[in-house]
Amino acid sequence: MSKNKKKKSRILAIEAHPDDLTYFYGGTAAKLVMDGHDFRVITVTKGSQSTCDPQFSEEKITEKLMEEHKNALEIIGIDDNVQLSGFTNHFMYDSETKLKLRETIIKQIREYKPDTIICFDPSNVFEENPDHSLLSKVTIEASSFAAYPLVHKEHIEEGLEPYFVSRILMTPTSHPNMFVNIAEEPLEKKKLAGAAYQTQLDLMITEIKQRLRNAGLDPDLDDIDREDLWFNVCESDAKSCARESRKYYQNHPKLAPRVPLEYAESFRMCFLGAVEKIKSYLPKECFEL
Ligand SMILES: [Zn+2]
Repeated sequence: MSKNKKKKSRILAIEAHPDDLTYFYGGTAAKLVMDGHDFRVITVTKGSQSTCDPQFSEEKITEKLMEEHKNALEIIGIDDNVQLSGFTNHFMYDSETKLKLRETIIKQIREYKPDTIICFDPSNVFEENPDHSLLSKVTIEASSFAAYPLVHKEHIEEGLEPYFVSRILMTPTSHPNMFVNIAEEPLEKKKLAGAAYQTQLDLMITEIKQRLRNAGLDPDLDDIDREDLWFNVCESDAKSCARESRKYYQNHPKLAPRVPLEYAESFRMCFLGAVEKIKSYLPKECFEL
């Protein structure tokens, strides 16, 4: 057996809101599950403010989102979801809450022992949502600190072990260096899972209408089929990502797939700690999923 033979991966995805995984990397998640890797997703908040509809109370949007999330994960094929409690979207920025979140994620990492973590990219300067920015930084810190036994030594006293995460995949990113082929079934699953979030498709239409109206335009979107709109957005994103991959692989031919990608999702992949510094010595397999 080759020393570098690929093993089954153990992947931990960490999302801020119950729709993040689906919309940002639902195709990759579906592909990883289909390929037989272990996959767990941690959902930090319940998205209790994720609506522009004044008819919704926090309780009502939470209830709807929880149901939509369950259906979407089922479509993608994920049956391992940890929903955290005690964290509210848009209100996690005081140092006590941030430290509690970091401790919670360190503990989850020590329990689940993932080789790969998926989270937001802190270098994405155009990120609109502060929960995504916060979680990107907290997750990277937690991924590093999980290896240090004196950081939250109460976990070690409880019987957990320090744990070294290998690598981290960040998305959405403006500096991609890893592209995942999501053509066919993964893309179809992403489209269907995205359509399971009726509240978020409504939000998308409301936003488009209102922002264009306030820019002096009056788009006739009353008859638009919101699922068709989402399917088109999803396909065109995946195509544009594939185009970007072809440019990237021109400069990195050793990493290029045999057949150019048609539909893709992109990530910035970094190894943790000292491994990032010696990555030019690593075999191609380390740069793949
Ligand atoms: Zn989000």
